[in-house]
Amino acid sequence: MKNYTADAIIIGGGIIGCAAGYYLSRKGLKVFLFEKDYLTAGSTGRCICGIRQQFSTPLSIKVAMESMKKFQEFHDTLEKDIEFHQGGYLFLAHDEDKVGTYKKLIALQNSMGLDVEYIDVPQIEKLVPGINTDGLLGGAYCPSDAQANPFLVVDGYAHGIQKTGRVLAYTEVTGINIEHERVVSITTHDGNEYFAPIIVNAAGPFISKVARMLDLDIPIYPERHEAMITEQMERFFDMMIVDYRADGCYFNQKWGKGSIIGCYTPVPNVPGQDTGTSFDFAKEIGRRMARLIPKLANIKIIRQWSGSYEMTPDGNPIVDKTDIEGFWIAGGMCGHGFMLGPEIGWVAAEYITEGKTPYDMSSFALKRDFASREVMK
Ligand SMILES: Cc1cc2nc3c(=O)[nH]c(=O)nc-3n(C[C@H](O)[C@H](O)[C@H](O)COP(=O)(O)OP(=O)(O)OC[C@H]3O[C@@H](n4cnc5c(N)ncnc54)[C@H](O)[C@@H]3O)c2cc1C
Repeated sequence: MKNYTADAIIIGGGIIGCAAGYYLSRKGLKVFLFEKDYLTAGSTGRCICGIRQQFSTPLSIKVAMESMKKFQEFHDTLEKDIEFHQGGYLFLAHDEDKVGTYKKLIALQNSMGLDVEYIDVPQIEKLVPGINTDGLLGGAYCPSDAQANPFLVVDGYAHGIQKTGRVLAYTEVTGINIEHERVVSITTHDGNEYFAPIIVNAAGPFISKVARMLDLDIPIYPERHEAMITEQMERFFDMMIVDYRADGCYFNQKWGKGSIIGCYTPVPNVPGQDTGTSFDFAKEIGRRMARLIPKLANIKIIRQWSGSYEMTPDGNPIVDKTDIEGFWIAGGMCGHGFMLGPEIGWVAAEYITEGKTPYDMSSFALKRDFASREVMK
């Protein structure tokens, strides 16, 4: 019998690793979490804080709705204010194709109990005063979608882990050790070895790199996405606005502070781990936001940064065991890791401890057919 350091080891101190670690702790496991940098240093601290439930497949909608419940309960269960605010998400339609897609998806989402509706242009103008309605046909609006502060969420989960386990920041996992086809320990950059029968790879954009330590090929690829935040201005809209045109963008006004935080999806995409920034982005996001809401033309960007989306071939996460006993994958969040994180963490903990997922998660399985696609990207 091995003398284990912990019941479970988590690699990665982002939302997924911290949520999974917290829920494993709640199941009575002693958890050690390793983060090579500081907590949130990966994608989680670079996100723009949006939490939505509008997805295109029943599993993603379910996971998002359950995740929302966990955000709602966060304050009570973890005794932490996470600056959670339900101001909604509004997906705009500038062509008939989008109108059709939204209406079809709204029927599915409503059938699952989600409070989303198709709204017309006058309704949008009430929600977003001063919006440019040129070419605008309507939008899909879900008032219960939300925003929260990822730093506070991760901190809340990390404190939960530390009640019975440990969080080791600035401690890179450099090796994973196996005996008889099952994991037994990890080695860290300083030469220490920590033993556990369960090891969860929640290394975000580095998942495939970490998995290669065991010669496993995991289809998760980082892609660079840039973001920015503006100076504060009086709040005049409450939701994340998604301009879904090919040269669109998405942005929100921060609850309480009034800064605008936003991104756009680069075309073509920018594969790789680079987290540099570009003048093109700063210029272009300004143009795109001001086209949609002209009064934003004079607002100043005060900071820009970038981070990685952890992409899979079909735009859905991977939450599963691997062929190596005790070695799990939780990630590949494709730009939705913050919003889905609480439920993904809970599901992973259930799967690991109970041996089966609490509901059908086959669309997030490691060995699935990656041919289908998430439409609400
Ligand atoms: C610009 C931008 C905007 C976004 N906006 C949103 C949004 O509005 N809503 C939303 O839901 N999602 C958003 N996302 C996506 C979201 O941020 C990610 O999907 C999510 O944070 C992924 O969490 P994670 O825990 O899987 O990965 P990460 O947060 O990257 O955590 C993984 C951690 O593992 C650590 N690590 C890696 N290798 C090792 C090792 N060998 N040893 C120890 N530690 C290691 C890394 O340092 C990292 O901290 C956005 C992303 C970006 C880049």
